[in-house]
Amino acid sequence: MRTGRTAAVSDTGRRRLRNEDAFVCDPPFFAIADGMGGAQAGELASRLAASALAERTGRLRGESDVAELVQAANERVYRRAVEDPAAAGMGTTVTVALVDEESGTVAIGHVGDSRAYRIRGDRLEQLTADHSLVAELVRSGRLTPEQAADHPHRSVITRAVGTEPSVEVDTFTLEAVAGDLFLLCSDGLTDMVDDDEILAQADAAGRDPQQLVRRLVDAANRAGGVDNITVVAFEVVEGEPAEQRPEPAPAAAGEPTVAEHAGDGPEQPPAAPVSRRGAGKGGRALALLAVLAVLAAAALLVWWSVRR
Ligand code: CA
Repeated sequence: MRTGRTAAVSDTGRRRLRNEDAFVCDPPFFAIADGMGGAQAGELASRLAASALAERTGRLRGESDVAELVQAANERVYRRAVEDPAAAGMGTTVTVALVDEESGTVAIGHVGDSRAYRIRGDRLEQLTADHSLVAELVRSGRLTPEQAADHPHRSVITRAVGTEPSVEVDTFTLEAVAGDLFLLCSDGLTDMVDDDEILAQADAAGRDPQQLVRRLVDAANRAGGVDNITVVAFEVVEGEPAEQRPEPAPAAAGEPTVAEHAGDGPEQPPAAPVSRRGAGKGGRALALLAVLAVLAAAALLVWWSVRR
């Protein structure tokens, strides 16, 4: 088993001025974070969590590693919230998925009201339980799902990364079947687009992750786009685990994609995922410099031979 096609997109939506969501798309690891807090603290919280998640070292495997990783993200956000008065009380949701290609399993870690879904055949299944006030009221039978869907306090979450010194992380492991398509998404999608519509869009996209994430963002914006919308999609397919395949050439080796959304305005296009270390930009600048140097050397050679 191996990770197949992947895609991720984050959009400010139509009402918010800033994008407080962040994601990591670094196969076989995927994550999403939806920050909250005063002023710009929500953005800071999700960005700190995403960078802590992306900086994992060594080989991750299984639920316990996933839980540890989310705990490390919690520590980073919490420490900053304690040290920086402007960031006091900030927090973020975190939902992560780690594909273990050898065993053909997917480990999920989850805190908050972002969601993980699995599309298998013609079924869409919500894998995570929302840690939100309304979801708890629904679970205890005090609200119907319909009442919850437009409850004024539906965005109140009962568990967050970064608000306490440590956090309780839900973790579980699923057996993957070839063809499974997994989604991680923020509530800016799921408040606007229901499960049936997500499945309909997956069919319309021919189960292509890239097309699907774009379609889902468009659908959420058509429905109002009241919040930031982020979707990460990946498929699990038949094949040799990446570890046993020959190493890709350095040029083909992808940088982990971490999207951070500092300064997104409503007039700006959706932020393009940026490379964590900025090596993409630096690499392009170096290549340009090398081309210029070669051209200069050639010109010098021509000038020198003409003068002779
Ligand atoms: Ca949100």
